[in-house]
Amino acid sequence: MTQEAIGPSFSRGVTSEQALAALARLGRNMLPAAPRPSFFRRFSRQFQNALIYLLLLALALDLASWLYAGHRAPPIEALAILGVLLLNAGLGVAQEYRSESALAELEKLGAPQVWAFRDAQLVRIEASELVPDDLVRLEAGDRVPADGIVQGAEALSVDESLLTGESLPVAKSEGAELFSGSLVVRGRTELVVSRTGARSTMGRLAQSLALIETTKTPLEQRIEQLGTRIAHYVGALSVLLIVGGVAAEGVARLSSVVMFAVALSVAIVPESMPAMMTLALAFGVQRMARRKAVVRRLSAVEALGSVTVIATDKTGTLTSNQIVVKALHSLHETDAVLALTLANDADHGGVAGDPLESGLLEFAKRRGADVQALRSAQPRIASHPFDSEWKCMRASVIAPDGTQRSYLKGAVELVLERCALTVAERSEWLQRAEAEARTGCKVLGLATGPGESETDLSFLGFVTLWDAPRPEAREAVLAAKQAGITVLMLTGDHSETARAIGEQVGIVSERLLTGSDVEQQSQAELQAALASVRVFARLLPEHKLRIVEALQANGEIVAMTGDGLNDTPALKRADVGVAMGERGSDVAREVADVVLLDDNFATIVAAVEEGRVIYENILSFIRFTSSSNVALMLLVLGGAFGSLVLGMRDGTGNLLLPLTALQLLWINFLGDGPPALALSVDRVSDVMQRPPRPRSSALLDRKTLTFTLSDGVFKAVVGLSLLVLLPRLGASLPATAAAVFLYEAVAKLASAYPARSVDSSPGTNVWLHVSIAAGIGLCLLCVTLEPLRRVLALHTTDASTLRVVACAVSLTVLGSELLARVLRRRAIACGLPKASAF
Ligand code: ADP
Ligand code: MG
Repeated sequence: MTQEAIGPSFSRGVTSEQALAALARLGRNMLPAAPRPSFFRRFSRQFQNALIYLLLLALALDLASWLYAGHRAPPIEALAILGVLLLNAGLGVAQEYRSESALAELEKLGAPQVWAFRDAQLVRIEASELVPDDLVRLEAGDRVPADGIVQGAEALSVDESLLTGESLPVAKSEGAELFSGSLVVRGRTELVVSRTGARSTMGRLAQSLALIETTKTPLEQRIEQLGTRIAHYVGALSVLLIVGGVAAEGVARLSSVVMFAVALSVAIVPESMPAMMTLALAFGVQRMARRKAVVRRLSAVEALGSVTVIATDKTGTLTSNQIVVKALHSLHETDAVLALTLANDADHGGVAGDPLESGLLEFAKRRGADVQALRSAQPRIASHPFDSEWKCMRASVIAPDGTQRSYLKGAVELVLERCALTVAERSEWLQRAEAEARTGCKVLGLATGPGESETDLSFLGFVTLWDAPRPEAREAVLAAKQAGITVLMLTGDHSETARAIGEQVGIVSERLLTGSDVEQQSQAELQAALASVRVFARLLPEHKLRIVEALQANGEIVAMTGDGLNDTPALKRADVGVAMGERGSDVAREVADVVLLDDNFATIVAAVEEGRVIYENILSFIRFTSSSNVALMLLVLGGAFGSLVLGMRDGTGNLLLPLTALQLLWINFLGDGPPALALSVDRVSDVMQRPPRPRSSALLDRKTLTFTLSDGVFKAVVGLSLLVLLPRLGASLPATAAAVFLYEAVAKLASAYPARSVDSSPGTNVWLHVSIAAGIGLCLLCVTLEPLRRVLALHTTDASTLRVVACAVSLTVLGSELLARVLRRRAIACGLPKASAF
């Protein structure tokens, strides 16, 4: 089934039964898994965070003042803070496990696959299923999956730098040994596997390799910085309060002053923010995977949401890569069909390999070629495999008369250049070919010559091939444009073919640049050209790097696709490197940030959408929790100040505070459970109707800050008003305190809705409704159920107070919803999608 040059003494691979037996005996071909951190390590890691340090300090102070005060009652407050800390750490660990398993799932989806012979059939299997004696087919860009012996090499060289540190590729010939982990950089071969898994070179090496730490994403880092900043402010505020409090109240009241400072810091600290972030990222990444985009580096998610340019290749991404040969234009059909058969790497079984090659072979068969007979009559002795630099493929064979001959197929104008033709003949062929290309067909030239010569060949004609655009491509291009994203097509194909396909999928470019144009332009010229050029044709892979760099110099955030070995520099350079899961080479997948399981352009757009959604959800959560933190801080400060001025004190002479530390903790904690979860799976309906979020924008953009502060101030003012008004209406002080508690708690929960509407018109989120309703129910229980009331030190409220609270909450929610809408309207008016012109 393999190349005919391979004789009977060569390995044919193993049967499925042999493979199963060997797998059972030797285990899978995988590197030994790194040990996972213990539960205790994970748990203690949750405490390494400035916000938590602050809470720990609060706990210590609380305990100290409890001891100092003579520890009569149980230290409920300290216990509650401890409870919050433990719960938060527990939640953090759970979310860590959750996101880890989500990522492990992703890893499985992206697991490397190989072409191997099983039961003498070429099949695609997971590299982990390889066993000794398996026969694997490798080509440029493939990572060697196991140790083995080279069989039937064609111009093979491999890069062993991962193992030896030697960066120059090493040529390997028949019988040489290949080591797992090295990279095929040129040629192709078959490999007879000798050692797998932990016994292979890479496996032995990996055992001594250190554990790779997962790094935090830029977004996570920014959240952490924000947390540290908040912690500093709160710490400083507490110190000020304690100093000021002692000055005003005297040292005798130190313990109650400390309790107050503790209550306040507990109210402000958004301790669950880091855990919520991780969760939102993990959920988002899982959603992307469901839409067939596998994220390999979490740090790319943020960039994905801010992408301004998608530079995509054509074949297989915009088109379906199901290639149909339309016609053969030739002078001698038999010779042309022979060229199609011999200069072809497809197996005659037709399962494996490049669809283009299989398509051509199918066509040859239909034109009466007996592939097997032709190939064994003229066995191949050498070949130059197709690569996108050279844009051709050549096979050298022994002709029936015993001499050596070469057959060449490739980009039509390049093949014509190598042929002995008159100027007139060449331009006539070229014109015919271009006329075909204008219909969107690929055009491939065919030639032959004696020996291994690559010039003065005889031209045999050309074939035209049709590769239909993917049905969803046009819509996806349109969606990207609506989202303010420019779509560029970068292809190695002919400019006329590229232009025609571009028009069919909606990538319209008045001017078109080719690889040689790009080469002649200076960086500045290229940057300027990028304002209008949307299609690049006959590109060499290295031009992609120049284009990414020029785009980035223009301030764009670039997602770029690539599949080959030569695309890796551009993939690395792009803000989001996108590799193909089906077509792509192993290295491209290794350096990429995102792997498309279906190679589909529409999947890139879907991933961008999910990236934006993740960012939105995190911002909604920040607005949701911080506006309430601001409100509580102001309420407590204002209330304390009022009590001080009015001389309102409790039986032991301590200042009366609107809310106790325990109540503050409770309110703060209410939103961190189910509502936070519900926000992290929120859907936003119009993320793709807006321009990309500028990446430079601070985490707390102006809208978020305005909303958080205004909404916070509003809730504090309403709370304080209740504090003043209710006693006038005849409510007792404890009943008033209960009403204020109820108001702040319910208003916090309900403001999840306006917090979502600042950036977008949110979709329906049943989980959010349920979790908020449940939260409100819990709050009501707190003021009615006796044991809960006792713990939280809450008085009961009567129906008329409840009505007042309900009014106040409705007013608040309406007010902040209005605010949110105004902010959104303003933002839309200021920033129309800049790419709407295209
Ligand atoms: P694309 O951007 O469409 O993926 P490629 O770099 O794959 O472009 O191919 C560039 C050109 O090389 C094609 O237009 C075609 O003329 C030629 N070509 C593509 N595949 C083969 C092949 N297997 N053998 C010979 N020539 C090929
Ligand atoms: Mg290609």
